[in-house]
Amino acid sequence: MTRVAIIGAGPSGMAQLRAFQSAQAKGADIPEIVCFEKQADWGGLWNYTWRTGIDENGEPVHGSMYRYLWSNGPKEALEFADYSFDEHFGKPIGSYPPRAVLWDYIKGRVEKANVRRYVRFNSAVRHIEFNEQTQQFAVSVHDHNQDVVYTEIFDYVVVASGHFSTPKVPEYEGFKSFGGRILHAHDFRDALEFKDKTVLVVGSSYSAEDIGSQCYKYGAKQIISCYRNSPMGYKWPKNWSERQKLLRVDQTHAYFADGTSAEVDAIILCTGYLHHFPFMAESIRLKTDNRLYPLGLYKGVVWEKNPKLFYLGMQDQWYTFNMFDAQAWYVRDIILNRMALPSLSEMQAHTLAWHEEEKTLTDAAQMYKFQGDYILELIEATDYPTFDIEAMRLIFLEWKKHKKEDIMTFRDHIYRSAITGTLAAPHHTPWLDALDDSLEAYLTDTPEVPQKKVG
Ligand SMILES: Cc1cc2nc3c(=O)[nH]c(=O)nc-3n(C[C@H](O)[C@H](O)[C@H](O)COP(=O)(O)OP(=O)(O)OC[C@H]3O[C@@H](n4cnc5c(N)ncnc54)[C@H](O)[C@@H]3O)c2cc1C
Repeated sequence: MTRVAIIGAGPSGMAQLRAFQSAQAKGADIPEIVCFEKQADWGGLWNYTWRTGIDENGEPVHGSMYRYLWSNGPKEALEFADYSFDEHFGKPIGSYPPRAVLWDYIKGRVEKANVRRYVRFNSAVRHIEFNEQTQQFAVSVHDHNQDVVYTEIFDYVVVASGHFSTPKVPEYEGFKSFGGRILHAHDFRDALEFKDKTVLVVGSSYSAEDIGSQCYKYGAKQIISCYRNSPMGYKWPKNWSERQKLLRVDQTHAYFADGTSAEVDAIILCTGYLHHFPFMAESIRLKTDNRLYPLGLYKGVVWEKNPKLFYLGMQDQWYTFNMFDAQAWYVRDIILNRMALPSLSEMQAHTLAWHEEEKTLTDAAQMYKFQGDYILELIEATDYPTFDIEAMRLIFLEWKKHKKEDIMTFRDHIYRSAITGTLAAPHHTPWLDALDDSLEAYLTDTPEVPQKKVG
């Protein structure tokens, strides 16, 4: 029997499981599937851990999410086309749910599909190589339940191990003698640690914006963010300033390219992540930076030089869950021999054309359109329920506008589902005052009891 290995049971790997199950539910014969997940539960980054560094099995901690994280984009732009928020929650909820609420949603679909039985948990993939003679992959896995390393043979491999877990960690002059804490965003867990402190956030990405906002919300004395190329440019609260790039630090102060300096208590490096696949043999290891259309992957997923290998979710992400679905359905149909692939040179030419087009994009609005068009191309090729990508693009534009208007209140806005047409319900408490990020607090209709202002 044909065997398929899926590496990782995060949203991408779970989409692959659901894609196969949905074909089976419609009467198709599906291959034998084994999903290897190094953590004890599924959900990938959405499965929160307090740990940093090394996990209970001695593996590098995968999680980069933190307490109090709420969706950074509208949930209406990531909704599954085959499992709506209405179906899961049974009532309209806000547009920017906290992490635990989105985790619950992702799990709901795969629990309904009954695919957990395909996942081997606490199973870290150590090495994958392709045998040209047998045309099969050898997958070596460390089973931490039994503490044994074993190897199994597969016909196809789908790598869905994520790319926001291995931090890119630069060093600045003076770091060795700085007197406070220096950490990467990957290790940030709880903004309360920085209450009453002056925090320097290095970077101008989503992490910088959101971690700075968390620190503000939970009572940091002052936030300084600094950028290499251009500022984030939002209307920041009074105690948040943006500076040019960091040049150096000494024991107490940070010094910036604009000639200013400041005394800081802690430095949080929001400097991005590496696409890192130490378990892949050299000839099949994806090497890319974080971009919308990586080279080497036809339709963003097929390893061009060996179409028995696939990578899911490796793009820079505006769209997330429904993009992973579009990819997973596409991969499934190749494995099920429902579609033929063009020649290597044709695949490469197709990828290159998209890759070159990506280089011409100059603003976020063009990027939403680009990634939306990419998703559309995938879903048109499969039976994944088609959905109104244009409506989602407009939601992204609204989101951008709301952030420009006020970075501290954009999460109080609501949008209409492009899947069901349902308008989200305003959350009972404004984001800035909602200090409890639990599922229970979010789903109740009762406002949070006003707390003493933390800041
Ligand atoms: C801080 C942060 C906030 C984010 N916020 C949002 C948001 O608000 N909205 C949004 O849509 N997206 C957000 N994202 C983007 C996020 O990338 C996606 O939502 C999603 O989690 C990606 O799913 P994935 O399955 O591709 O990867 P992951 O979620 O990273 O899952 C990969 C899985 O593979 C497993 N794995 C890795 N290596 C191995 C191995 N060797 N062996 C076995 N298993 C392995 C991991 O344990 C993990 O379970 C955020 C990302 C970060 C870092």
